[in-house]
Amino acid sequence: MRVESLREQVLEANLELVRRGLVLYTFGNASGISRQEGLIAIKPSGVPYEQLTPEQIVVVDLAGNIVEGNLRPSSDLPTHVELYRQCPTIGGVAHTHSEFATAWAQARRSIPCFGTTHADYFKGPVPVTDPLTPDEIQNDYEKNTGIAICRILDKADPMACPAALVAGHAPFCWGADVAEAAHKAVILEYVAKMACRTLSARSDASPLQQELQDKHHLRKHGPGAYYGQAPSR
Ligand SMILES: [Zn+2]
Repeated sequence: MRVESLREQVLEANLELVRRGLVLYTFGNASGISRQEGLIAIKPSGVPYEQLTPEQIVVVDLAGNIVEGNLRPSSDLPTHVELYRQCPTIGGVAHTHSEFATAWAQARRSIPCFGTTHADYFKGPVPVTDPLTPDEIQNDYEKNTGIAICRILDKADPMACPAALVAGHAPFCWGADVAEAAHKAVILEYVAKMACRTLSARSDASPLQQELQDKHHLRKHGPGAYYGQAPSR
């Protein structure tokens, strides 16, 4: 993939987060990777979204060194890099402080799978990390945030549940590319909101029965998937 088109995709995904109401001011960031070239494109740090241009998207290598761009990359870059390094199938990462998903992260609770909407996108509960230790906060905080996420995700298939909550912070989501990562962030916020509503309606609500969780997840994912249209050949 050419770097220019990666930059445009990353810009578009960042703007999608704003359009969907997931971002206040400059909170949040999305990135995408070209695995062929080993290059990551990410939002610059602290630039208002409405002023963002493709040229301002910063391009870095997998060590986090700036390859192209005059601005500093998002301060969360080391978290994104850690996800890309540890999970070769991840092609895009989106981080927001969206209201309901962040509320679950602050409560340090994983989001239970209460319904089929959740099961369609996220296998099992959306997990929450352990709190970072004082040493992990003082040294390489952003990288250690990525390591904390990688500790709890299913390395065999990070796409089975393409999101995690960082305890006391907010969600990170990912996908095959940056557009998919932003899409997952939007769905996660909706699922997190509905989980709150479910508990308001019934404080002792149980997770969705396992058979229904599996049915909904597996009809969209994996070798037996049959949801939607068959890919064109
Ligand atoms: Zn954050």
